[in-house]
Amino acid sequence: MDPTGDNPTRDPVAHGYQEAYQDGNALAGPLAEIFAVDVTAAVSRCAHCRSEGPVAGLRVYGRATALVARCPHCDGVVLRLVRAPDTAWLDMSGSLALAVPLGRA
Ligand SMILES: [Zn+2]
Repeated sequence: MDPTGDNPTRDPVAHGYQEAYQDGNALAGPLAEIFAVDVTAAVSRCAHCRSEGPVAGLRVYGRATALVARCPHCDGVVLRLVRAPDTAWLDMSGSLALAVPLGRA
């Protein structure tokens, strides 16, 4: 582990993407089509660094048809969403868990 917190392998510039990102609230509309709850209010646990935080705090890159959400702590990919004309592909392999707040039954 690098005690300075610098990790050149996670440097966005080194990975060739310098596109400005939006916060995780950009996922609200696209994910609302799949989930009946507001997933941006959920807490995800990063599979890469195990930090936890609200989905709204993820860094989202891309456009509505292809979004990549990265961890704000380690820059690992937490989820990917691809919207085809008749199917949505959601890859959450970068999230160990998703805690979704629900109203009491
Ligand atoms: Zn992380």
